[in-house]
Amino acid sequence: MIYLDYQATTPVAPEVSKAMQPWIEEKFANPHSPSRWGREAAAAIEIARKQVEKAIGFKGGSVAFTGSATEAINWALKGTIEKAGQARNRIITVATEHAAVLDTCEWLAGQGIDLTVLPVRPDGRLDLDLLARELDERVLLVAVMMVNNEIGVTQPISEIAEMAHKAGALMLCDAVQALGRLQICKGPDLVAVSAHKIHGPKGIGALWMREGAQPAPLLHGGGQELGLRSGTLSPALCVGFGVAAKLADERCTRDYDHVQKLWKAAIHALGPGWTINGSTAHRYHGNLNIRREGVDAARLIADLRDIAFSLGSACASGSGRPSHVLRALALDYRESRSSIRLGFGRYTTQLELVDACHRLAKAAVEQEKLDA
Ligand code: PLP
Repeated sequence: MIYLDYQATTPVAPEVSKAMQPWIEEKFANPHSPSRWGREAAAAIEIARKQVEKAIGFKGGSVAFTGSATEAINWALKGTIEKAGQARNRIITVATEHAAVLDTCEWLAGQGIDLTVLPVRPDGRLDLDLLARELDERVLLVAVMMVNNEIGVTQPISEIAEMAHKAGALMLCDAVQALGRLQICKGPDLVAVSAHKIHGPKGIGALWMREGAQPAPLLHGGGQELGLRSGTLSPALCVGFGVAAKLADERCTRDYDHVQKLWKAAIHALGPGWTINGSTAHRYHGNLNIRREGVDAARLIADLRDIAFSLGSACASGSGRPSHVLRALALDYRESRSSIRLGFGRYTTQLELVDACHRLAKAAVEQEKLDA
């Protein structure tokens, strides 16, 4: 199989699985128990926390481990609203956010929160003048992702954070697709990340919180995580996340340069006839979301079963609905249905990517011939 779905998840790094092994096979102590073995597990978790903090790269604040980035985002949104009380009750977000943000915001709107979902320009970027017009003294939180999971387009996070702060609001950044790929923009008060997008294990995420911006708890119980999040932590998952973060931090430039080369090779191998969805200037190049007139993307996936790629996003692929992100770029139904997402990174070789792109281009041309 040629794996080209790096936005859905990434292969676990060998260093990560090796580091996790003893914590699965031998070291089973509860990290919150006072025994010597418990303290050893707790110490391993603290090392992992520092490694994740370093990869995020912000000064101060704290990282709390969660079960996923989805949990971190739910916690940030719901917990910030709960903590604020009645004074400010408005959230601003963007139409191209991940479902973890959009669905949580919709749920909050159902509870009486005033929700504004801003459109994007056809290149997928947020219009900052529009944001400026919307920011008022009722806004509590502005939630904008750094790198879009479907189209790879980046948003100007530092400018958005500055604007939010000027209006007295906080900013949440979903940096799930940014961590380990690009330097995370400074400015947000809350940052959500996930281990499985950086060659770590599934089932663990984290929320970085600026001092004073900690949300009220989402999960109640033993308060094991900084007194703010309950549930026994898994030392194996924390250690795996830590090692993945350390590797991402150390290899950031190398991985970035590799992705730049892969991007150029993929564009060249695909040949003419394809259009890139979203901004070409402001994007992460490990995400190539493209469309081709007349192509049925679902049929391409069925024709090329040994290449793992996606219809815009993993979530939208399963539902059969056209992606909300492509719709937000004003693509019509046919354009959305002819769009595919190729995601590549650290372990993708140029040879396999070029081979996959040649076969994709050939399959697209064959479809055209059949339909002619
Ligand atoms: N945000 C973005 C941009 C994502 O791509 C994903 C995963 O697909 C998530 C949030 C949710 O992450 P997790 O799988 O850790 O819940």
